[in-house]
Amino acid sequence: AGGERIARRLARAGLASRREAEAMVAAGRVKVNGRTLKTPAFNVRPSDRIEVDGAPIPQVERTRLFLLHKPAGVVTTSRDPEGRRTVFDILPEGLPRLVTVGRLDINTEGLLLLTNDGGLARILELPSTGWLRRYRVRVHGAVDPVALAQLEHGIAVDGVFYGAIEATLDRKQGSNAWLTLGLREGKNREVKKVLGALGLEVTRLIRVSYGPFQLGDLPEGAVQEIKGRTLRDQL
Ligand code: URA
Repeated sequence: AGGERIARRLARAGLASRREAEAMVAAGRVKVNGRTLKTPAFNVRPSDRIEVDGAPIPQVERTRLFLLHKPAGVVTTSRDPEGRRTVFDILPEGLPRLVTVGRLDINTEGLLLLTNDGGLARILELPSTGWLRRYRVRVHGAVDPVALAQLEHGIAVDGVFYGAIEATLDRKQGSNAWLTLGLREGKNREVKKVLGALGLEVTRLIRVSYGPFQLGDLPEGAVQEIKGRTLRDQL
């Protein structure tokens, strides 16, 4: 519902900054469906015909964001040289062309974000965006308080320093345990590397949140679109 502010729409089309776009509207240069706009306090829908100085503005697809509950056994790439199934192979029909926000290893499960906006994907996957990524992890090995404290302080593995990782022990099951970890960097294979360095073998890895987005009870293999208000508030 609601559509999108005209100035934002013009800015996304690359015509002007939002402020400049508002000035263009105020100057009577912008028409929507043949009518000259008088105020920038106007929302447009994707189907509206927008002209500036009599010329239609370039079509830009609006940003769309999807959550996928990635199952284990599919790779996060568009084409796999080894011919394995990819996350794109399991997406439902009818979605726009999407890219993934970062990657999950083949045997990692859980929340993977996809978007039709490549620039957005790059921003969201940057460590500097600093979004918390939370994982539920099953490990084989003895989890002791010292190991957890090391994670919380940050740890170097093979010359790479991994910053502070929030870690809680949820339960023990014989020689296995379930942990919840919270990371902000998302370095390549970070969870397996840091836990491996502490003598813990990861036997299941499930990402349960990525920034403000939660896996929740999204079924395995299912996709959910983040729309409207939620999308605008979070991005
Ligand atoms: N850390 C890992 O080791 N693997 C993933 O897929 C994600 C984080």
